[in-house]
Amino acid sequence: MSAEKQQEQQQVTTTPLLAQPEKPVLSEEKKASLCSQCDEYKQWMTQYSPTVRFMFDQIKQAGGYVSPNKINCQICEDPKLGGFHPDLGIQLCANYIPDKWVLNDTLSHELIHWYDNTRFKVDWMNLKHHACSEIRAASLSGECAIMTEFWKNSGVMRIAKGHQACVKRRAALSVVGHPKCKDMEHAKEVVDEVFRSCFNDTRPFEMIYR
Ligand SMILES: [Zn+2]
Repeated sequence: MSAEKQQEQQQVTTTPLLAQPEKPVLSEEKKASLCSQCDEYKQWMTQYSPTVRFMFDQIKQAGGYVSPNKINCQICEDPKLGGFHPDLGIQLCANYIPDKWVLNDTLSHELIHWYDNTRFKVDWMNLKHHACSEIRAASLSGECAIMTEFWKNSGVMRIAKGHQACVKRRAALSVVGHPKCKDMEHAKEVVDEVFRSCFNDTRPFEMIYR
């Protein structure tokens, strides 16, 4: 891997961690092994994950192309799972992604941003546009499926409510990182404002299937 590639990309969107952040000090050796593990998971998911393959296909149909060298495993300074930049592509944080299933959800999440960017010509500096894409990404990527499991024994309505609450929470955590967002309060406001229309827009999926 080139020195240039090892440098962390600046992202326009970032995907928050699932649990409490921790910032361990890593040796160069450990960093290299985390990146190669992440690359391995990435290869596997691009070949076998139905969601990832579906998204590649949908982006192609929308007139885009996901080049494999635009999906980069990197050591991230801030605790997060990944990010997306319309020019640089997708960042996967090798030091914060614990296993290939989380990588699958994170990659699917970033691919929804990619799809939105290709199909809807998103203005990433517009807070409402950003919030909308984060809502869709959190809802459709499967990252809130754990929450769905959690509520399963409490009835169908609770499942739906748990999923929506998770999507809102995770979208706000991403939006708060936007340069135009003042604070968490502001992030939640913007997410609430666009939630209904963006949550109900499940394109390119027919429905939320996970
Ligand atoms: Zn995102």
